[in-house]
Amino acid sequence: MKTPLIMTPGPTYVSEEVRRALSREITNPDLDLDFYEFYKETCHQIKKLLNTKNDVLILSGEGILGLEAACASLIEDGDKVLVIDNGIFGKGFGDFAKMYGGEVQFFQSDYESAIDVDKLEKFLEENHDFKLATLVHCETPSGITNPIEVICPMLKKYGIITVVDAVSSVGGETLNTDAWKIDMVLGGSQKVLSAPPGLTFLSISEEAWGAISNRRTPIIGYYCNLAIWKNWYEDQWFPYTQPVSDLYAIRAAVDMLLEDKEALERHRKIAEALRKSLKDAGIQLYAKEGFSNTVTTFMVPEGITFRQVYEDMLKNHGIMIAGAFDFLKDRVIRIGHMGENCYEEKVYSTLKALDQVFRKYNIPLRGELHKLFVEYV
Ligand SMILES: *Cc1c(COP(=O)(O)O)cnc(C)c1O
Repeated sequence: MKTPLIMTPGPTYVSEEVRRALSREITNPDLDLDFYEFYKETCHQIKKLLNTKNDVLILSGEGILGLEAACASLIEDGDKVLVIDNGIFGKGFGDFAKMYGGEVQFFQSDYESAIDVDKLEKFLEENHDFKLATLVHCETPSGITNPIEVICPMLKKYGIITVVDAVSSVGGETLNTDAWKIDMVLGGSQKVLSAPPGLTFLSISEEAWGAISNRRTPIIGYYCNLAIWKNWYEDQWFPYTQPVSDLYAIRAAVDMLLEDKEALERHRKIAEALRKSLKDAGIQLYAKEGFSNTVTTFMVPEGITFRQVYEDMLKNHGIMIAGAFDFLKDRVIRIGHMGENCYEEKVYSTLKALDQVFRKYNIPLRGELHKLFVEYV
């Protein structure tokens, strides 16, 4: 069977160069001292992507591992955790915080907009006795990017440790970890980086390391315990055998992304043109403002179901698009335009197919989606 074009917000298309890296001959990562250098250099490349001098680690597990590892390592019983929530991932972070004993307080903001920073500022004036705060850079289900450049410095004024889920934004949105005072940034291999799913990467500031090292109680668990990584390089010791092939692949992907100086601008340009095309054709975007540059979420038009769109796109056009889950299930359609999928040709083909599917079901459109896109991009 021919592989469809996966225009989903992760996993994304994986380039041949990255796939070739996966097939490289492997070494024994525990014994081969060169491998420690390779791992270190790979972390260094990711630091460039995150604009940070902080330590970076790459963990063997899909993006969610980063969220859980941050909570497991930072949170002790009774610690006060602020969960900033304007979407499914933001809210879900609270579950991990609770799981590790956090006393969670939610700051909820409108789910159809970026986090309201003025409201948050007022909230913080009254409530700021938190050890850490969790928030999400790009809310992938709703297609909203939050202004973490304003929020994280605001939290730091009160000495709150900032933990940002940037899984679907790293590489596709501007991200200045150090300038924006982010203590932990969490990322995954299968989003903008366009490597296969299976790896988490994260950055850890001095202050976050301090909180991890100076706990009253030991960290529960092993795989999510970041403290065991503290001296991996000095000791030439990995906590567990490293997924060599996945690391070869993520390295190839990061190197390629760093070489691509147009990447951020391309994400911005394509996202904007895509939104404008949908809107002008009469399709309603899910969000009111704060749109993401890596994923676009829009309402399933009346007269067709998500399932019909998904199946027709896949069977008759060979293109896989996404819906969403939780309260957005069957209500929205998502096109991922991140990393390897963020090219005009791919978005054009997707819109051309979508245009045909909508027409087949007599969904009224003002203009042709793909032609509008060509005009705007
Ligand atoms: C993709 C993603 C993750 C990782 O979660 P999966 O659903 O398991 O892929 C975490 N946070 C955000 C914001 C993501 O987009």
